[in-house]
Amino acid sequence: MFEWLRKRRAEEPTSVVDPVCGMSIAPARAAATRTVGTRTVYLCSPACTDKFDRDPSAFTATAPSSSHQEEKHGHRHGGGGGCC
Ligand SMILES: [Zn+2]
Repeated sequence: MFEWLRKRRAEEPTSVVDPVCGMSIAPARAAATRTVGTRTVYLCSPACTDKFDRDPSAFTATAPSSSHQEEKHGHRHGGGGGCC
């Protein structure tokens, strides 16, 4: 009856994808996390963590999410800051 209460936990983190094996996991269940730049990577197991640590760039270069092309072409700063 109170099922709507469970669905409205806005603070609950969404599931993340382990870039090594591609498995979806809950952040709280990650065996380890790595911060690469502004991105946090979650590893599902020590084995995946080990693989990631050997070559982090190999797993962070390509996003395993649905949006595999993130405007890499013609990136501009159009905010009016005039940094460059
Ligand atoms: Zn994994």
